[in-house]
Amino acid sequence: MRNLPSTEWVSPKPSANAADRALQLIRPEIRALRPYHVPDATGLVKLDAMENPYSWPADLRGPWLEFLADAPLNRYPDPGGTGIKRGLQDAGIVPRDAQVLLGNGSDEIILMLMLALERGRAVLAPVPTFVMYELLAKSVGLRFEGVPLAPGFRLDAESLVASARRCHAGLIFLAYPNNPTGNLFAEDQVEHVIRNVDGLVVLDEAYFPFARRTFMQRLGDFPNLVVMRTLSKEGLAGVRLGFLAGARAWIEELDKVRLPYNVNRLSQLTVEFALAHREVLAAQAALIRAERERVFAALSVLPRVHPWPSDANFILFEAPDADRLFARLCSDGILIKSLAGSGLPGYLRVTVGSTAENDLFLGALERALDPS
Ligand SMILES: *Cc1c(COP(=O)(O)O)cnc(C)c1O
Repeated sequence: MRNLPSTEWVSPKPSANAADRALQLIRPEIRALRPYHVPDATGLVKLDAMENPYSWPADLRGPWLEFLADAPLNRYPDPGGTGIKRGLQDAGIVPRDAQVLLGNGSDEIILMLMLALERGRAVLAPVPTFVMYELLAKSVGLRFEGVPLAPGFRLDAESLVASARRCHAGLIFLAYPNNPTGNLFAEDQVEHVIRNVDGLVVLDEAYFPFARRTFMQRLGDFPNLVVMRTLSKEGLAGVRLGFLAGARAWIEELDKVRLPYNVNRLSQLTVEFALAHREVLAAQAALIRAERERVFAALSVLPRVHPWPSDANFILFEAPDADRLFARLCSDGILIKSLAGSGLPGYLRVTVGSTAENDLFLGALERALDPS
């Protein structure tokens, strides 16, 4: 056996300081990231995170607990989440000829898409949009390109396609409706993007229950389209369930980077139960849509406040002195979202809550705007 050449390089004595060690071992692009910040909402009316304000109705809690009671928690859950997938198809939510990938929230599905992407390909999205696309791309070492939306937050398909070609985009995320702007991109613009990029278009329909527009039934028309949904915004944010529907060729590959038991047994059973009682969530979504119109109308008549029409369960609005307004609302017990740190200074975003919560918000906003 030949001797290996001895190395001249002697590793320096490792530091006793954890910060020095982290500096050496954590990739610079991770160190440069700002963590996803979730503000403490204790004691506040929580209108910052697009949660459904309504909980599970009292008469369903008993049956739900009974359904969970016998769950064998000593056993790993079904790795494929077959019960949920069957439920989604039986309910007509996903077409029978599409395959489904389940995630611990759609955030996890976004991560799986990125883990599987060919190295050297970029991730592209119109901006401003959902921040996790950029955060997760960077955390797995992918390049992220944000293409500014056209005036009125419209999707400019031509410029998106041009950017996709220039940066060799492998994944193009379109939130439909978009967060934080709330609008639904024009269907023909979305279609133009899908037809003219060689990357995979991920249509993120997180706000589907409030927009009721979808490409789900058109999956078969495009070889490079997948549709992503989540149960978070329609009432099960605490359960963490997202899903991706698409052709077998995509779903089978993505499934290889999914952790085997990513959706826990209690979540699986709860989602199966919720799907069997989905009229409850549908009725809550209808209430939220009606409240959205009421809140929009109320914002529209406030002086110097400019709300943007929304197809989601939140409303983006411009307001004078937005930072001060945000702080005053907080001290008045109302937590909304300031977009100053997300590239939209002067803009605030409020989640549509229950009638009582919305009234509290509107009252506090009027007081905050009144200089007297
Ligand atoms: C909230 C949101 C998600 C994340 O949903 P989870 O399923 O809770 O991870 C995905 N996409 C968009 C556009 C969102 O606003």
